[in-house]
Amino acid sequence: MSIQKKLGKYSIGTGDRFAHQAKAQLQACIQALQADVEVTPVWNKSNREHLIIGSEPTSVRKAADEAVQALGWTGAYFCDADHITLQTVDRFVDACDFYTIDVADAIGKQAAAQDVAAFADRHRNLVGEIALKGTAEKFSITDAMLRGTAEKYLAAVQQAGAVYRHILAAKGEGNFLPEVSMDETDSAQTPVELLLILAAIADEGIPVQTIAPKFSGRFNKGVDYVGDVIQFEREFGLDIAAIAYAVEHFGLPQNLKLSVHSGSDKFSIYPAIHRTMHRLDAGVHLKTAGTTWLEELIGLAEADGAGLALAKEIYAEAYAHKDELCAPYATVIDIDPAKLPTPSTVAGWTSAKYTEALRHVQSAAGYNSSFRQLLHVGFKIAAKMGERYLELLRANETIIARNVTENLFDRHIAPVFLGHIS
Ligand SMILES: [Zn+2]
Repeated sequence: MSIQKKLGKYSIGTGDRFAHQAKAQLQACIQALQADVEVTPVWNKSNREHLIIGSEPTSVRKAADEAVQALGWTGAYFCDADHITLQTVDRFVDACDFYTIDVADAIGKQAAAQDVAAFADRHRNLVGEIALKGTAEKFSITDAMLRGTAEKYLAAVQQAGAVYRHILAAKGEGNFLPEVSMDETDSAQTPVELLLILAAIADEGIPVQTIAPKFSGRFNKGVDYVGDVIQFEREFGLDIAAIAYAVEHFGLPQNLKLSVHSGSDKFSIYPAIHRTMHRLDAGVHLKTAGTTWLEELIGLAEADGAGLALAKEIYAEAYAHKDELCAPYATVIDIDPAKLPTPSTVAGWTSAKYTEALRHVQSAAGYNSSFRQLLHVGFKIAAKMGERYLELLRANETIIARNVTENLFDRHIAPVFLGHIS
């Protein structure tokens, strides 16, 4: 399969809901480069976010291009149409060159019986024991597994093929990176399932450069991983081994790698991710959960005065509308209502108290993950404020940018890609 646009070994997907922080985000990649590690920036924004903010995909492209120009970034960079489907992809055709094709909804749908049979037939040679690189563990695949996996995932992969060909017709071969995502579903995919899914993806002729499975454990938005870290590390290594096998045997692109969605703030698994990548000489795409907007709030609160006042007002509004704000994210947040301070309590907070509650430093005594998660889903409140919010962003650009860069570099790029323990 031919690819022209190529994603590097290490990349970070970063969200910028209000399109004001691209420079501060790129600065984090520049810091990585100064430490001799190239991390490709990918600006991602989903259709859902665009609808809530009232923005167009071209605004993401424009902010990225301007940041790259302003900071003299000479490396590659991409704009990701995040979690698109056949219904939502069209508005992203001009602005994007990375497409996260989301087929989670089709998992479990029945593919045509003859397609399932053909898949099982075509891949009969996978039945038995499969030796993997970098591990003594083997996959043992039965004919029933081959069929069972096809029954569960083949329709989803066929749907990914339809979306891929739709984008292909609009943009031309090699002009964009396709990712297939299956993370927004109930149960995790096993490494064996991942291998068989990749076989189906290759059959569909999709030159995937990243694949986003659902890993075991909880990947809540904007907070740490909840689950068994040792089991995660084992699974992550086997997923990478499955990818290496798929590249070698199914003809998928050499640079195919895992994409970790909701990958920001998962501090407890970063050492495992780094170790495994290093051990298996693999890359990773770490997609953050759009928490840059929380750094904007932290910067505003740190600025005190009108900034802190607005940050408090946003919390009060989010608190008043918590049920409707949380509903779309019910499966990816975990807020304890008893831990949410009342708006009148927050009204009395100092700048330091607000930032300590929100900033993701778990060792800080005042850190409050429920407060953080509610504000994370509360970006709609700021979007509704429109110019009032954006004006304060501009007025406090320096202090906000410092928080954005520090969060992305110190808490994410450094532990994942540079192996720094924070
Ligand atoms: Zn995702």
